[in-house]
Amino acid sequence: MFFHKNYFFRLYFALPVIIVHCLIWSVVYCFNVGFISEVELDTSYMVLFTFYYTVLILLVWSYTMSTITDPGSIPENYKIEETEVNPDLEDSDMAKLSKAKRFCEKCDRHRPPRTHHCSLCNRCILKMDHHCPWIGNCVGFHNHRYFVQFLIYATIDCTLVGICCTSEFVKNNGDTNYYIYYGMVAGLGLGIMISALGGFHSWLLLSNWTSLELRPMDTYNVFDQGNWLKNLQQLCGKRLIGYILPIPTNKVGDGITYPINTVQRPVKSENSEAEPLY
Ligand SMILES: [Zn+2]
Ligand SMILES: [Zn+2]
Repeated sequence: MFFHKNYFFRLYFALPVIIVHCLIWSVVYCFNVGFISEVELDTSYMVLFTFYYTVLILLVWSYTMSTITDPGSIPENYKIEETEVNPDLEDSDMAKLSKAKRFCEKCDRHRPPRTHHCSLCNRCILKMDHHCPWIGNCVGFHNHRYFVQFLIYATIDCTLVGICCTSEFVKNNGDTNYYIYYGMVAGLGLGIMISALGGFHSWLLLSNWTSLELRPMDTYNVFDQGNWLKNLQQLCGKRLIGYILPIPTNKVGDGITYPINTVQRPVKSENSEAEPLY
């Protein structure tokens, strides 16, 4: 992305990433100068600040991983096999799994299920969720976990900074320095926004949706295995450490084929408007 041949696109991808780094480090700086260096370090503060810095390392690490990791592209030798079409599915589902519906005219090739074309990255992305300008990358099969980890760690640290600075602000009846004021506004503001986004994306992973596939609540999602752990494992693997650290892990899925769950398929009501998800 950052090596796009068009200079405008390079700037387009790089600028939001620079802004995110400015935000992260400005909040860290203000919290350090305005709060950490001012309080008397007792055991409880030592524990709190150790936790804060540990999460900060994980935050920057997961952000970097979501930025530099290729979200996934179609393998060179990919071909649609007729056996991929599940005969248990209804006609409408069959049609969506057919070759005709899975051909990208821009890339001039067939694509696996859940793969979509990103016009900004100018290629098809495996299990594409969305193109995120703030990481200068698409969120797809290989980096969705890093993206969600970043949101969770950012929520924790922003909220922690916001609460500490707010308590200091209240304790001094508003008579505080600008560092505390900035930490309070940025910490609480970012904490609320990022927590909403992190909650939404955590729910997507737990229920095996992507943002692009999201349909009304009565839509039956054939990719949902009916078990949140199995859904998570498709992206996060089976090792607990992969859920905590933004490290590469052996995923259960491969981003090309997906187990189809037809067991819990409800009978469609006569007046149901919702289309089943392919
Ligand atoms: Zn494409
Ligand atoms: Zn993209």
